[in-house]
Amino acid sequence: MPETPPLPLRAPRALPDDPAEAAARDARYMRAALEEARLAEAAGEVPVGAVVVWNDTIIARGHNLPIRAVDPSAHAEMQALRAAAQVIGNYRMPECELYVTLEPCAMCSGAILHARLRHVVFGATDPKTGAAGSVLNLFEHAQLNHQTTIAGGVLADTCGQMLKDFFGARRRAQKAARSDAARSEAGNGAGCACPAHPEPNSQNNANDA
Ligand SMILES: [Zn+2]
Repeated sequence: MPETPPLPLRAPRALPDDPAEAAARDARYMRAALEEARLAEAAGEVPVGAVVVWNDTIIARGHNLPIRAVDPSAHAEMQALRAAAQVIGNYRMPECELYVTLEPCAMCSGAILHARLRHVVFGATDPKTGAAGSVLNLFEHAQLNHQTTIAGGVLADTCGQMLKDFFGARRRAQKAARSDAARSEAGNGAGCACPAHPEPNSQNNANDA
């Protein structure tokens, strides 16, 4: 088995003690994660973005890409963690923090714990797949070999609104597409008695009811 490369020698800066300074710092990095989320949205993906911070520097970024990458693991956190590990030169990153616009799922929470991150900050909660307290909480098991601290709710409204807008637009587009298809069907078949457009029979009517 190959030797694990050493961690960077430079010690990370301590997190600020002053709550206002800490909040401003969290907001700054969350805004960077939001920039990534916008890139996901522009690519037609669910808008979630993430950045990895080391020594008060963003060393890696990632955004949701499972559709384009045809990869169920291509969540924003995974993309950012993979990129960060290449920068650090080690899959273990105990001096790094991750900022992500949406509460991590079970897969990403598992990867975060395997990467031994020291701290995670997320924006909006995810009541359907959130694994940091919403559906389950993988960050509260003392028996796990590594503990990563986690905090949520940073720029939560902005992060959540971006997702609401995305899903709202998608629902409207799907509804419009269904309406167009129905209009096209009606236009093609209405009043036509040819074999290609037969009158609906009684069985079809029953199914429609
Ligand atoms: Zn995930």
